[in-house]
Amino acid sequence: MNGEMSRRGVLGLGVAAAAASAVTKASAADRPVGFAVVGLGKLSLGQIIPGFANCRSASLAALVSGHPDKANRIAAEHKLAAASVYSYDNFDRIAADPRIEVVYIVLPNFMHREYTVRALKAGKHVLCEKPMATTVADAEAMVAAAKAANRKLMIAYRCHYEPLNLYGMRLMRKGALGKPRLVVTNMGRQADLSDPSDAWRLDMRESGGGALADMGIYGINASRYLLNEEPLEVRARAQTDKRDPRFRTVEDLITWEFRFPSGALSTNCTSFNQAATMAWEVYGERGKMIAEPGCLYGGNRLSLNGVPGEDQPKIREIDQFAREMDWLADVVRARAPMVSPGEEGLQDMRLIHAILESAARDGAPVRTDYGYRRTVDPAVAVKA
Ligand code: NAD
Repeated sequence: MNGEMSRRGVLGLGVAAAAASAVTKASAADRPVGFAVVGLGKLSLGQIIPGFANCRSASLAALVSGHPDKANRIAAEHKLAAASVYSYDNFDRIAADPRIEVVYIVLPNFMHREYTVRALKAGKHVLCEKPMATTVADAEAMVAAAKAANRKLMIAYRCHYEPLNLYGMRLMRKGALGKPRLVVTNMGRQADLSDPSDAWRLDMRESGGGALADMGIYGINASRYLLNEEPLEVRARAQTDKRDPRFRTVEDLITWEFRFPSGALSTNCTSFNQAATMAWEVYGERGKMIAEPGCLYGGNRLSLNGVPGEDQPKIREIDQFAREMDWLADVVRARAPMVSPGEEGLQDMRLIHAILESAARDGAPVRTDYGYRRTVDPAVAVKA
């Protein structure tokens, strides 16, 4: 081979290698983002694992469970190899599994911190269920761990991606109701101590706040994303029958009022001993909108009054869990902005803590301006 041919050959190979690498990169970018689901309880089995069938960018890649029989059965049903089933003990081995890019934490709240931090240390991105933790300190540690690992940490606030709530946010951003005056939220249901899935929710250490941490968090978050501002102060009251065995360590009925910088107020209520409801209302100077129900998995309804130029909306039914998982997959592939980062979950944890503090002091005002400001308005998810 003369020198010229040799040079051409090397160049040719270089071009071919570059082309192959471009193809690999392109196909990696097109490949669905593999998710490992940690914890196979009610939400995983009922909504999340079935939700992958409706995803376009996310796919189920692995299961993590303390029950091998259950995990192997579900893996087989979803055509996952036996090697894609992990236990809590060998969980850290996910670091060597390139099929897993995101770890979805669907465990009781007190386990969120440990598994989030372990997943981040294994080099994975994390989607963590709400509430992100049981204490402010745990939430702060999770945000710090994501920064240290340079990985994404998203909190699973499904309402940020849900058509009715996005519709409401869009009307608020347009000022369609006039100056916002009042948001009212009510999120509650009956809890059942004999249901293992509720037993940990009724334990302060394991849940981080009973109904408030489980359901009231939707009202905290809705007040903030509807008004698109952060509360300055809260006053809260709790009403709990301590003879009821469900409420040995957690409060039952909690009401709280947030005061916002614009002058708007939100009054909120949550309980584990009331008729089931997930509803919110907004009253502006001219118009009002009522979302009843507003935050269910489906069947949400929005009615408008005094909002000229806006028809009564027909809310599109979607799989909220699929959309949320697809959203994070698109964030990982740099196709979408992060809408509900760890910092968003941390803000709610601080507010939960402030509500409990005010309630413990019989409604004394507690300052809540922690300096958090959203970098991305969740209303952007409308366009995608
Ligand atoms: P669940 O109790 O039904 O499931 C929890 C799973 O964790 C079970 O499979 C259980 O076996 C497992 N687990 C492992 N170690 C455990 C331990 N030490 N104690 C108890 N359970 C243990 O709970 P769920 O209703 O599926 O909720 C899971 C998470 O999802 C919670 O953080 C909850 O707040 C959240 N959630 C979110 C939504 C939503 O709409 N985004 C809805 C429901 C639940």
